[in-house]
Amino acid sequence: MTQTLFDKYKKTGQRHQIFILYGLPKIEFAGVLAHEFIHVWQNENNFKLSPMHAEGLCNLASYWIYLEDSSDFAQYLNIS
Ligand SMILES: [Zn+2]
Repeated sequence: MTQTLFDKYKKTGQRHQIFILYGLPKIEFAGVLAHEFIHVWQNENNFKLSPMHAEGLCNLASYWIYLEDSSDFAQYLNIS
């Protein structure tokens, strides 16, 4: 998954902010949100992985979201 300006979060104490591009299709929004939630989860739980493995774990979350949607677009998102 390509990182964009909107694919960011920041920790402020125990509060996190997730910024997601406005206007995404619902399934893509869900996938991006799942991805970012896993980043937050890793951060809150001090779950240390290499950057590559941390990103891979987050991509797994979005993969599962897209896998549950039978649309062609969701399948496209899963292979892109
Ligand atoms: Zn990420």
